[in-house]
Amino acid sequence: MAASIDLPKKYKAAVYDKPGSISTKIEELDMPEPGPGEVLINLSHSGVCHSDMGIMMQSWKHMPFPTQAGQVGGHEGVGKIVKMGPATDTSSVGVGDRVGIKWMAGICETCDACRVGLDASCAKGKVSGYYTPGTFQQYVLAPANYVTPIPDGLDSAAAAPLLCAGVTVYSALRKSRTKSGNFVVILGAGGGLGHLGTQFASRGMALRVIGIDHSSKKDLVLESGAEHFIPIDGTDDVAGAVKELTGGLGAHAVIVLTSNNKAYASSVGLLRHGGTVVCIGMPEGDPVPFQATPAQLIMSAITIVGVAVGTRREAIETLDFAARGVVKTHFRVEKLDKLTEVFKEMDEQKMQGRVVIDLS
Ligand SMILES: [Zn+2]
Ligand SMILES: [Zn+2]
Repeated sequence: MAASIDLPKKYKAAVYDKPGSISTKIEELDMPEPGPGEVLINLSHSGVCHSDMGIMMQSWKHMPFPTQAGQVGGHEGVGKIVKMGPATDTSSVGVGDRVGIKWMAGICETCDACRVGLDASCAKGKVSGYYTPGTFQQYVLAPANYVTPIPDGLDSAAAAPLLCAGVTVYSALRKSRTKSGNFVVILGAGGGLGHLGTQFASRGMALRVIGIDHSSKKDLVLESGAEHFIPIDGTDDVAGAVKELTGGLGAHAVIVLTSNNKAYASSVGLLRHGGTVVCIGMPEGDPVPFQATPAQLIMSAITIVGVAVGTRREAIETLDFAARGVVKTHFRVEKLDKLTEVFKEMDEQKMQGRVVIDLS
């Protein structure tokens, strides 16, 4: 079994060589040995997420320490288990299984946040590509009890972005308190999370989606199942446009996927009475407080919730939607040595859907 797989002594990884700027460098690293409870995974693909950019650029002011030079980033990895560490005999995964790594690479399982299913709030949780070496590399260690099994028949490259973008936006829609037939506004509907969220909402949950994004993303948003598209460029009164499409009332929920502070400022104004804003996109740079008055919240019974990642169960549900063909990832594949260029493209906001790195 485990002993029969021959592993190289060295392998390729992309590291952040100059954190604070857009730069990655390919290095050869030593093959690690799985510790107790861990598995060693030979990764074939990794998605590139906007959160990786935040970590590389050190632009998330709330992180406890600056990203260190030499950090391997990435948190949407898919690959095959090649070695089991000690104390993994009761694990539900084994050598040869295809599994995925998520934003939270592992949680403590014992704190209150873990017990109530708020994985991202675990005080000892390990963010992949920040606290631990991430998925922009050919081999990675992960806790056996926290990897996500990938369903048969789901392509590895297509599965990778679902492990962060897909799970998070699916979890957000579940927390939006919407029912089938309700209107949901998706701010940033044409991005990595947005095009998946639009599909989950319209095709998986029977919601009426109003997609808002740059006009260049109109086709992708409509193809993903949005009932309406509002271009952010060239629309002076977005709230007015949303009201017009919703019988003058506003949407039942707004999902904010962008890191744009202006989008957050506008979000409450798009809602009807009893509506919910779900915050996912992490604002960058200096924090800007949410713009909503207590009177607005009280008189219209507005709820504002935040979502960082989903649970293990939501990850399994997300991948199941994809395996059944309800949700399709819009992506293109690049090799690891193109990672820096991919980040530059992301920085210029030219990216449609997701880029997945082929790690072979
Ligand atoms: Zn992510
Ligand atoms: Zn915990």
